[in-house]
Order: sequence, then C-alpha cells, then structure tokens
Amino acid sequence: MINVGWALCCPPFHLIPQTCFLCGDAATTLPMCSACWADLPFQGPACVRCAKRLQKVGICKQCQEASKPYTHTQAVFSYLYPLDKLILAAKFHHNMTVLNLLGHLMAQHLTIESRPDVLIPVPLHPKRLRHRGYNQSLELAKRIGKHTGIPVEMNACQRIINTPPQTNLSGKQRQSNLKGAFKVVRVEPHWQHLVLIDDVMTTGATVEELASVFIAAGIKQVDVWCCAKSNQ
Ligand SMILES: [Zn+2]
Ligand SMILES: [Zn+2]
Repeated sequence: MINVGWALCCPPFHLIPQTCFLCGDAATTLPMCSACWADLPFQGPACVRCAKRLQKVGICKQCQEASKPYTHTQAVFSYLYPLDKLILAAKFHHNMTVLNLLGHLMAQHLTIESRPDVLIPVPLHPKRLRHRGYNQSLELAKRIGKHTGIPVEMNACQRIINTPPQTNLSGKQRQSNLKGAFKVVRVEPHWQHLVLIDDVMTTGATVEELASVFIAAGIKQVDVWCCAKSNQ
C-alpha cells in the first residue's frame, strides 16, 4: 500500500500531468500508475555488509573473505526496471519529482538500527557538478535527512580527481581508478558513526574508497545507504 501523504507536501506535484511517468497510463498515485508502483524492485534479502542480493539475509562469500572499510550497506532497490529509468531521470535530467520520490522511498524503507551522527552524500568532482548542476546523492541525502532528522553534511569531503566513468571497468579496475579520488576536509569531534549516501552501488568501489578515507580520518564506523544496488 502506498502512502500518499507525502505527495501533498511536495509542491511540484500539482504541476504534473495525471499520467504515469513511466508508461503514460492514468496515474493512481503520482508520479506512477498502480502497475508501475507494483513493479518497483525492492531489494529483498541481501548481504548486510555490501547489499548484494542473497537467498536470505547474511554475509556474502566475498565479504567473508575480504574486509571492507564500511560495516553495513542497505540498498532499498535492485537496479532493475523501472528503477533504472527513475534513477536516470533523477541523475541526468534533474527530475525533482523523481528525486523527491526516491528520497522519500529511501527514508521510508531504510531500517535505522543505530542512528548515525551524520549523513554524507558521495561528492561529485566540481567539474562534473558544474556540468550537471546538482549532486543527485546530496538531493537524496537532504530528503532522508528531512524525514529522519539526521544532519546532512556536504562539505566534509571533496572529490579531488575527476575519475573517468566506471561503467566498463571491472571491480579491481574501478578500485584503482578511484585511488586517491577523495579527500576528507572536515570531521566534527562528535562524529563516530556516519552513513554515506549514494544513488547506485555497483561493485562498491566508490563507497569503499570514500569509507577508507573517513576511517583514516578517525571515524569509527561508516555505513552505506544507497537507493539501488546493481547486481552486475
Ligand atoms: Zn505506469
Ligand atoms: Zn557482501
């Protein structure tokens, strides 16, 4: 059952045509029709460390064999249709309706067992930020912060290397591609536990590199909350 209360508090909704964003049918609860709502691919049982899909909740083989700088990862969705289409709209077309929707769904479906001190969106390199005009992970973090009351900090770290797109790289290549890409510039003394917010996690190379620089800067625990986990 979809909670419609949130739609009323998001002003852009009254400007949207009453058709489904994805398939064009009549929308039941904006921005989608009931069939598309039912198609949303929630992630289901997964590895508690890296969010990889599993038959039941546990720790996957790779995470048992290699330690990670982050402790827990939660992914709300699998990166499958129609979530992939929503993410593309949120990421490259500045569709604030979809960003509001994804941020709200993340806030609704994340389990907060131990409340972090701060949420840190994965930063974009300033060049990419200028080109895109916004950071989709920051937009998601702001919405989660608003719903949960957890502060969001966008100036704690910077992306200092404009790494090439990761799409066609293997896990190992992604890791070396990102080496030294992030710099921590500010850590508050009371921060013990932080959560990185990302839109899509594929191999986890980005959050692994970012988590490791925060651990090196003295943070005790880093977790990851992402909108979707790609099971590539
Ligand atoms: Zn639809
Ligand atoms: Zn795992």
